[in-house]
Amino acid sequence: MIEPSELPYLRRCVELATRALEVGDEPFGSVLVSGDGAVLAEDHNRVASGDRTRHPEFALARWSAEHLTPAERAAATVYTSGEHCPMCAAAHAWVGLGRIVYVASSAQLAGWLAELGVPAPPVRTLPVGEIAPGVIVDGPVPELAGEVRELHRRFYTAV
Ligand SMILES: [Zn+2]
Repeated sequence: MIEPSELPYLRRCVELATRALEVGDEPFGSVLVSGDGAVLAEDHNRVASGDRTRHPEFALARWSAEHLTPAERAAATVYTSGEHCPMCAAAHAWVGLGRIVYVASSAQLAGWLAELGVPAPPVRTLPVGEIAPGVIVDGPVPELAGEVRELHRRFYTAV
């Protein structure tokens, strides 16, 4: 269940995704929030570098492993514009992070990209629960999903 007080974190994820789009990256953004509600770190997709593992959720998992205790990681929440891919879900679980809240599900994104004629990715699209069954996951968030869909449409229709 997503509380209204969590929406600002999700809006920030959409802002970060917009920033990624503006600098030529795929539009994904994520925010790491402590158990007491403090924003600890944030990032956006950086695959335009040529390294297609530079997903924000992966970066936040690594940041948390370097900077947080196991208890702090377990109490933290990762908010993200799009549900973790299998690589990021695995990283999230391996470092022992807590809950995930996403705006758009992987299934929604796959449907939108198929509509746009985007080729299937090299990694299967699976829900986080298939990869990391112990992680609590909330989403999608209908009031923000349209904005995320529009960012992906812009990314793939830009010339
Ligand atoms: Zn990922």
